[in-house]
Amino acid sequence: MELTGMFPEEIKDWLQQRQIAPFRAEQIFSWLHKHATASFAEMTNLPKHVIFSLEQAFGSPWPLKLAASQRSTDGTEKYLFALADQATVETVLIPDEKRQTLCISTQVGCAMNCSFCATGRSGFVRNLSAAEIVSQVLWVENQLKAKGQSISNIVYMGMGEPLANYDSVLRSVRLINHEQGLNLGARRITISTCGLVPQIKALAEEDLQVNLAISLHAVTDAKRSQVMPVNKRFPLAELLQACDYYTDRTGRRISYEYALISNFNDTPEQAKSLSRLLKGRLCHVNLIPINPVATQRRPSEQGVMEFARVLEAKHIPVSVRKERGSDIEAACGQLRQTQLQE
Ligand code: SF4
Repeated sequence: MELTGMFPEEIKDWLQQRQIAPFRAEQIFSWLHKHATASFAEMTNLPKHVIFSLEQAFGSPWPLKLAASQRSTDGTEKYLFALADQATVETVLIPDEKRQTLCISTQVGCAMNCSFCATGRSGFVRNLSAAEIVSQVLWVENQLKAKGQSISNIVYMGMGEPLANYDSVLRSVRLINHEQGLNLGARRITISTCGLVPQIKALAEEDLQVNLAISLHAVTDAKRSQVMPVNKRFPLAELLQACDYYTDRTGRRISYEYALISNFNDTPEQAKSLSRLLKGRLCHVNLIPINPVATQRRPSEQGVMEFARVLEAKHIPVSVRKERGSDIEAACGQLRQTQLQE
């Protein structure tokens, strides 16, 4: 077990096995998760022998190191982290006037193979551990703290399909949410999925108030299967049934992500079909003018606004995601792919 993936009780067990006073566990957890401390030596209320034991066992608090970074003119920062096995993942910090939103990765690569996604095209390598997921947050929190700032929102929308790494993702959410740690409210955390039906139903059973975002991207099975192979396994009707179950169990509104791809899913008729699909559902549509990565192109700004207007006219709550980081390799997986090619 890696240290940043442990709850206080687990750290306590680890300490007890080494004849170290168990009350140190809460101090260590607080240094790691509340103060986002970068080294054991900075844990000033721990005796030297405890620091020594931690250093011997774990080396450093985080099982990742910064391998590369890019900063956009709009303030968006993209980090490429190298893990202990030299696999790499991306994390993106998106600041605006009110929020510091962090987009984190849950897998090295992804097996879902969505056609518009650079990560999907690079294939699946492995799941991240809870510690590797949480450590992306702690690393960035450490940087922000130095500027008197803090992460306000976390979105599980980076590399990987979060619900395909269910246990580690849930553990990481509970660690981020922990009152002795970062204590970030579950409502400030969004888990995104391409539509894994059994896991959506399982998530509905968890006692968590996290936001759920569904990558929808098309309104018919034929179209959706074309860009998202997962749709062949879990077609739209089954997916929406699971979403209804989630809403019924949690009372939470679901966010439907819809990446607008020119000449594919961006016509006013498709907007009408989308409104029919979501009518009567507790929902919000997030329109995303696609970040061009392959053959797919982005619709015109006018086309995007028209699509949004059709949804509004049908009383479907909608927003258009502001483009961020367009001058850096902002689409998920692009920075990693460039580095792999190099
Ligand atoms: S969009 Fe998400 S689920 Fe699809 S391939 Fe990319 S990372 Fe995986």
